[in-house]
Amino acid sequence: MTADTKKEALGFQTEVQQLLDLMIHSLYSNQEIFLRELISNASDAADRLRFEGLQEDSLFEDDPELKIRVEYNKTQKTVTVLDNGIGMSRQEVVDNLGTIAKSGSRQFFESLTGDQTKDSQLIGQFGVGFYSSFIVAEKVEVFTRRAGLPREEGVHWVSDGKSEYTVETVDRPKRGTKVVLYLRKEAKEFLDGYRLRSIIGKYSDHISLPIVMPKEGKDEKGEDTVNAALALWTRNKKDIKDEEYNEFYKTVSHDFEDPLCHVHTRVEGKLEYTSLLFIPARAPFDLWDREQRHGVKLYVKRVFILDDAKQLLPPYLRFVKGVVDSDDLPLNISREILQQNKVIETIRSACTKRILDLLKKLAQKEPDKYKQFWQTFGRVMKEGVIDAPDKREDLAKLFRFKSTHEDTEEETVSLDDYIARMKEGQKAVYYVTAENYATAKNSPHLEIFRKKGIEVLLLTDPIDEWLVAHLAEYQEKPLSSVTKGELDLGDLADEKSGDEAEETGNEKLEEFTKRVGEVLDERVKEVRITRRLTESPACLVADEYGMGRHMEQILKASGQQIPMEKPILEINPDHPIVGKLQDEEDETRFGDWANILFEQALLSEGGQLEDPAGFVHRLNSIFLELK
Ligand code: ADP
Ligand code: MG
Repeated sequence: MTADTKKEALGFQTEVQQLLDLMIHSLYSNQEIFLRELISNASDAADRLRFEGLQEDSLFEDDPELKIRVEYNKTQKTVTVLDNGIGMSRQEVVDNLGTIAKSGSRQFFESLTGDQTKDSQLIGQFGVGFYSSFIVAEKVEVFTRRAGLPREEGVHWVSDGKSEYTVETVDRPKRGTKVVLYLRKEAKEFLDGYRLRSIIGKYSDHISLPIVMPKEGKDEKGEDTVNAALALWTRNKKDIKDEEYNEFYKTVSHDFEDPLCHVHTRVEGKLEYTSLLFIPARAPFDLWDREQRHGVKLYVKRVFILDDAKQLLPPYLRFVKGVVDSDDLPLNISREILQQNKVIETIRSACTKRILDLLKKLAQKEPDKYKQFWQTFGRVMKEGVIDAPDKREDLAKLFRFKSTHEDTEEETVSLDDYIARMKEGQKAVYYVTAENYATAKNSPHLEIFRKKGIEVLLLTDPIDEWLVAHLAEYQEKPLSSVTKGELDLGDLADEKSGDEAEETGNEKLEEFTKRVGEVLDERVKEVRITRRLTESPACLVADEYGMGRHMEQILKASGQQIPMEKPILEINPDHPIVGKLQDEEDETRFGDWANILFEQALLSEGGQLEDPAGFVHRLNSIFLELK
């Protein structure tokens, strides 16, 4: 016996120990999920064998019928899950059953809520399913052999789930994996054929290979297939009940809630394929990782090819789950080939359209559900405007924004709603971007719009800055920032402002702006009179073609070195403070006031003062002069 075939005792990785501890002590209220996880692993193992077997026929050995077998033994108090899938080599056993390879474990611990039922539902999503065996078992044995390896290279793994396990190389005539659970006293309810069958029915009906159990009854021989074992998407959609779709969704997604909606299509003709796609109700933990695993699995003629098929949908639809089953792709297709495959291209664009149509319908028919969707996935959808220029208009139709038309942050409007409400003569869709709802809603830039009853969209997601830059217009209406450039309300400007515009030529005011400009020379690019304010004395605006003030803040906050553009200070000539200041002769006091005007404008748009202490000091010296 060589060094790497003898029996050795190894310690679990620290994370695994923590996890086992948790399984044993905290997740015992929902014990039955262990079976779902073991069956899911067995099914994955079968899928992988089928896939590798496409290149290497001999992997099937003399046993081509893939299936999963569940048994129990009342005397030994064991439940066994057996598969003839891909199996594991000794190294794979150590890597897979002694450590947590994926980054999932940390996120798993962070996601725990303390609610046992919820927490146990999380297991499948984080790639830690195998360890759930220890919820019900005081000892677990795994016998396995990797397909293609000689029978002497089987592996026997044993652990009591405490801190160690042993591995030993053994003889395994059959490929695949057998997991034997020695049940704890508290888990003996699972030594019951009917109980096991009902759990399999509940969680694993949509596993597309047969799950068999020995027939019940002392004298019975043979076995029963206990799941439906039919790929759901191949059935006629008229015959599929909503509950069946929902259960299928749960097996493909590892989610535990029903999906929001689904679309199931069989395409025939030049290209033949079936797609069954779901919109989840909840966000997965890695939604913000653009590299996260995508949720659509690719099958070719019912054979599983790969999950995480990124090519089947664009990144901005990465939350969609489901399957695509093609009749036209070659069975030996690889990830590399997928990337420039014409068939995949066509399927991708059709699936994208199908999802956008599904969402459009949802928005029309079930606004409440759509609202939930938008709250969960809206920010991801917005990426589409940047990624997919040809879909901008379709996507924009689905977007929802906060608006001055609504009283609360929760109520949102669509661009179509906005356009329907536009005032006669209004040429643009107006928006303001800010860090949060309160800052946006109370922005001094909105004063004139409020006065004239013009709606303004309140954009508060960081991505909104990019969104408006790329979208630029909708239904031929330009999107226009209320904080950029000179305000041109076009036909909406009333008579009076025409006269006032002349008045701005007024010498005293001109003198005043010049004086403020001199004081603030370092801080602003220009000082000018504005008509956009009614209540505030001043505000800051960016150049028409500049980056925009809020965008600068975002980039700066994210640590990017950007040349800061100096803002333009706009002053409200009708404001009493401005009136008073024009007559201020004391240069020091005038200087303090001018700086305060600038600083309060900066504060009211959510900006940060470079010298807050200086601001407070200036303010205090003015307070002290109050009589
Ligand atoms: P996940 O299934 O999400 O990867 P698990 O904890 O359920 O996480 O399983 C860990 C790994 O152990 C699997 O990825 C797989 O490589 C291996 N494994 C578990 N069960 C089997 C099995 N029945 N056959 C082959 N490999 C298995
Ligand atoms: Mg698993």
